[in-house]
Amino acid sequence: MPAITGNVYTHRLQNLKIELWHNGQRIDDIINHSAFKGVIKSQAALYDLQHKKDFMTYRSPVTGHPIGVSYLQPVTKEDLIQRRKMVQEWAKLSGGMLGRSPDYMNTILMTFASSAKLLSGKENCFPQHLIDFYEKAREKDLSFTHTFINPQVNRSALYFEDSKEPIAAKIVNETKEGIVIKGARLLATQGGLTDEIIVFSPGGITDKAYAFAFAIPSDTKGLKFISRDSFVDGESAYDYPLSSRFEESDSLVVFDDVVVPWDRVFFYHNTEISNTFKNDSAFLPFTLHQIVSRQIIKTDFLIGLAESIVDAINIQEYPHVQEMMAEMITVLETMEALIIKAEVNAETDEFALMRPELAPLQVATALYPKVCARLSEIIQLLGSSGLVSIPTEADFESEIKTDLDQYLQSATLNAKDRVQLFRLAWDATMSAFGSRQTQYERFFLGNPNHLARELYKNYDIKKQTDYVKRFLG
Ligand SMILES: Cc1cc2nc3c(=O)[nH]c(=O)nc-3n(C[C@H](O)[C@H](O)[C@H](O)COP(=O)(O)OP(=O)(O)OC[C@H]3O[C@@H](n4cnc5c(N)ncnc54)[C@H](O)[C@@H]3O)c2cc1C
Repeated sequence: MPAITGNVYTHRLQNLKIELWHNGQRIDDIINHSAFKGVIKSQAALYDLQHKKDFMTYRSPVTGHPIGVSYLQPVTKEDLIQRRKMVQEWAKLSGGMLGRSPDYMNTILMTFASSAKLLSGKENCFPQHLIDFYEKAREKDLSFTHTFINPQVNRSALYFEDSKEPIAAKIVNETKEGIVIKGARLLATQGGLTDEIIVFSPGGITDKAYAFAFAIPSDTKGLKFISRDSFVDGESAYDYPLSSRFEESDSLVVFDDVVVPWDRVFFYHNTEISNTFKNDSAFLPFTLHQIVSRQIIKTDFLIGLAESIVDAINIQEYPHVQEMMAEMITVLETMEALIIKAEVNAETDEFALMRPELAPLQVATALYPKVCARLSEIIQLLGSSGLVSIPTEADFESEIKTDLDQYLQSATLNAKDRVQLFRLAWDATMSAFGSRQTQYERFFLGNPNHLARELYKNYDIKKQTDYVKRFLG
């Protein structure tokens, strides 16, 4: 099957009987529900984009059909660059606000399957299941949500769950059909809005009941997605330019004695593999490459937004405004330089993939959780009261329009265009949608201080210490 269109994605979703809960109700018609229809339409538009530009697809090694580049196993630097172009083309549709456009999980699955040999010959590990699943996903262009962490009950290093009923999802039985999972997981962005869910254990496991990895269809019996409150305030793209289209939702995932068929189990009851597979695999460099590619587009978007505000109310002449704009540009140029360095220094790895250099990507992803809040803050500082003087489209269609036209005009924009711009800035940085964006960038990949520590631990710092030794000698 070639890369899918938006229609295929939507129809597939419509045909699944997913148990998705929102606001105290089980949702029957997910694709037309006010909380989800905007993002589903945007995801569909992404799939359609695959058919508009050649670099979005490549030839399937099995059928020769054009299939999505997010599944491509890069073996040359050109492949790597094509992957970046694909990620950025998709990211442009949402200003980088869709963290879980399909390329995110497709990339992760590609890295896991490429690293399947790490499972070979290991107890309770099924490398071929992982490879078969990747190939199926690639050929069918499946969409995914995922959950990699346990519920936030007690994060003390000394905590050991001793609840009678499981809280964190664990293996409670093993049958002819497969492993049986009971308990819950956090936090599936787009949970219930995709064909399948991929589940991997978090690291640091000591009890083999928590050691597993698998993928199952989103409508598997006993699988429940409980979505948080929606941040969609309305359908108008004028009033809610981002949340009406890109509100991804985040879900608690509940496994109520879910049977995971054997052919979908990648490994189980193996704590060593559970604790090492992600780090030893090709996961990190390629996932970070996808992330940084998107964050560059997001930064582009936020800079464009900031400069449009500066221009609208004519504040270019103030030195602190110029400094703040320079701060934003510094972030963008730094991120771009880091990804180019990672690509230039890419080398073929043990899995025969063209692996980007890890350190610059780790630097970028350690930097961004800190600076993304500052990028938002700069937009708030530039926009000031303009970010709350935001009447709605309905106001512009009422008898007070003449007042609004007169009093809300700006140096370079008429009132309606000015309010549209400031509503976009509000939705990007101040609305519930905008605040979640900041929280997302801080945490979606894990605790930011942990990521920074990983950079230090993995960094080849001998070059620098040798230099000092030579200097002293
Ligand atoms: C918007 C959003 C979307 C997300 N989407 C997904 C998704 O789709 N799939 C998915 O699997 N996950 C997702 N996540 C979850 C993400 O992986 C976690 O937020 C992240 O791993 C941090 O875990 P936590 O939220 O449980 O925080 P915790 O680990 O509970 O941390 C809370 C605080 O305690 C500190 N802390 C906790 N443990 C330690 C420790 N051992 N050492 C030092 N400090 C510690 C942290 O620094 C932090 O300040 C998402 C998160 C957000 C915010």
